[in-house]
Amino acid sequence: MTTLTVEGLSVRYGGVRAAHNVSFTVEPGQSLGIIGANGAGKTSTLKAIMGLAPRQARAIRFGKDDLLRAAPHTLVRRGIGYVPEGRHVFPGLTVEKNLLLGAYCRSWKNTPIAEIYDLFPVLGDMRHRPAGTLSGGQQQMLAVGRALMCRPKVMLLDEPSMGLSPILVGEIANVLKRLNADGLGIVLVEQNAKLTFEVTTTCLVMENGEIAATGTSRELRHDPQVRRIYLGL
Ligand code: ATP
Repeated sequence: MTTLTVEGLSVRYGGVRAAHNVSFTVEPGQSLGIIGANGAGKTSTLKAIMGLAPRQARAIRFGKDDLLRAAPHTLVRRGIGYVPEGRHVFPGLTVEKNLLLGAYCRSWKNTPIAEIYDLFPVLGDMRHRPAGTLSGGQQQMLAVGRALMCRPKVMLLDEPSMGLSPILVGEIANVLKRLNADGLGIVLVEQNAKLTFEVTTTCLVMENGEIAATGTSRELRHDPQVRRIYLGL
């Protein structure tokens, strides 16, 4: 089983401690949410796993592979997909070229592009349009589709709901649930706790760089403190 194991992960930017001693596991078919306020350390945690932020850890493993010192493209090749905060699509390239760039790690003849168009029909309709002309929600779908082009086993998503209308957030949620049901492991970082509880079965709450609470999404959704702080209830 290709379990992603993160043990004792810490991230420091000079004197700033962004994350401290974060540990979790997620395997294909599982879904883990990470919620927390602005600056809690969620983005830094994902970036550090991918090798995009300075990291220290006891272990970052995928299955039996030690990935603690691996470069980002190695993690992608091994089956860890990453959808960064802010989408980062290539605005001057067409939708299709953006997707094909996501498949750089596989044979051009064997990409799952038809599956991506099946998952997000609007991307198929707009395949020849420059990505920069898409709406924010469509660009988010493109960023998710691009990450899927390497057929990841586990995917890390950073705030896919940011700036999207409730209808589009619902669409993204449905796609994530479908992918998860089909066996993809999901680590979902969000400020939108409602979305996170809907999509994931287990959640971590981060505060000041540390894991402040862990539980099933169902438990946390009903926790009075979580409801007050993260759901505004
Ligand atoms: P947000 O929801 O706003 O993205 P977050 O929970 O993802 O917040 P991070 O972006 O990981 O939190 O930030 C954690 C801390 O690290 C914050 O204090 C932030 O200011 C700091 N930080 C993040 N990136 C850098 C950087 N490149 N250099 C210095 N400090 C940073």
